[in-house]
Amino acid sequence: MNLEKSNQIFKESEKYIPGGVNSPVRALKDMGITPPVIKSGNGATITDEDGNTYIDFIGAWGPMILGHNDEDIVNSIKTCCSESIAFGAPTNLELKLAKHLCETLDNIDLIRMVNSGTEATMSAVKLARGYTGKNKIIKFAGCYHGHFDGFLVSAGSGVMTEGIPGSAGVPQESIKNTLIANYNSIESITEIFKKYGHDIAGVIIEPVAGNMGVIKASNEFMKKLESLCREYGALLIFDEVMCGFRVAYKGAQTLFDVTPDIVCYAKIMGGGLPCGAYGGKREIMEKLSPVGPVYQAGTMSGNPVVMAAGLSAVTKLYNHPEYYTHLERLGSKLENGMLKIAKEKGIPMTINRCGAMMTIFFTDIAQVTNYDDAKTCDTKLFSKLYLHLLKNGIYIAPSQFEALFLSVKHTDEHIDKFLDVFKNFEF
Ligand SMILES: *Cc1c(COP(=O)(O)O)cnc(C)c1O
Repeated sequence: MNLEKSNQIFKESEKYIPGGVNSPVRALKDMGITPPVIKSGNGATITDEDGNTYIDFIGAWGPMILGHNDEDIVNSIKTCCSESIAFGAPTNLELKLAKHLCETLDNIDLIRMVNSGTEATMSAVKLARGYTGKNKIIKFAGCYHGHFDGFLVSAGSGVMTEGIPGSAGVPQESIKNTLIANYNSIESITEIFKKYGHDIAGVIIEPVAGNMGVIKASNEFMKKLESLCREYGALLIFDEVMCGFRVAYKGAQTLFDVTPDIVCYAKIMGGGLPCGAYGGKREIMEKLSPVGPVYQAGTMSGNPVVMAAGLSAVTKLYNHPEYYTHLERLGSKLENGMLKIAKEKGIPMTINRCGAMMTIFFTDIAQVTNYDDAKTCDTKLFSKLYLHLLKNGIYIAPSQFEALFLSVKHTDEHIDKFLDVFKNFEF
């Protein structure tokens, strides 16, 4: 693998962009190399500046579930650009996307568009506080909800891989209303509600976590969480930024017998452009300005080009339920194939998978169900696997605590290639 041109460009980037990247995990800090600089993508593959082609299992960190350069998304962007780029005024396109989402997703009466997942979750929390008149928010250790100050405690992959205990620049006051509970622990949430219940505005959770590696919440745990929220008048906020439209069209909501009050989306719903949204029950959403007193705004929110790409992506996913069957079949093939090889080779490894998202955990514990379990993993071994895969044309996220994503453009051949390369991994 020749990375000469990539290295040259990246060195230059480091002169003008902090660390050479616009989001930390891209720098491959603990992987022992500087990153390939990506030039183009097509279907399930991407190609770097030196002409190396990789089978892409990152998919822009989730959004590219339809593969790169999806013809319908690209055409919708081109068509839109020929008449509109930005107005900061109501458009028919934003209506179409909002209407489609309200009609096809569960528990969304009204929805507000924003520009990123971070914006969606921080706005959802403000809305929960405004609606309930309470202050505290419960989040779970290892869950990531974006780079908003109040969430940068025990925040999963980015901060975990970099070994930062949270983040500098976050004043104690910003996190004093953030309570940390243990994922999948009924005991932990019961205790926190007992102690602070009167002042809890909401609980935010990734119902299928993807930022401490993939970990699914148990239905029993989610039901308890819902009943505690109802008992104490706190709102249940689902962060479906990663798992929405991925584990199923309707997201992780469909996996649990539980009704969230507010749901956050981003990633897939923007079709590859910067986008986010949060929606929920009418009575809650109508607390937002200009109807209600909770102020949240955005110059670029609902941008027509983004709406066009998003609408194209989600309608395509909605109209093709067989895509999810394909993703499940390939996911299962990759999971089972890897487990079989690991067993033969004696590699201590377990895999958590939920549809088209999965994580390979290098640990000898039988099940990874929370952040502490995830932290038992051998991150050095993971780095070694990362390099081995990259050198053999397979592009996965450079962290033990991220998810591997499949797209509808992946085929049996791509999975077979992955398994072949894994077979040759000297651990
Ligand atoms: C990516 C992610 C976010 C943040 O979204 P950005 O668009 O990067 O701001 C929030 N929550 C979850 C679960 C995510 O995976």
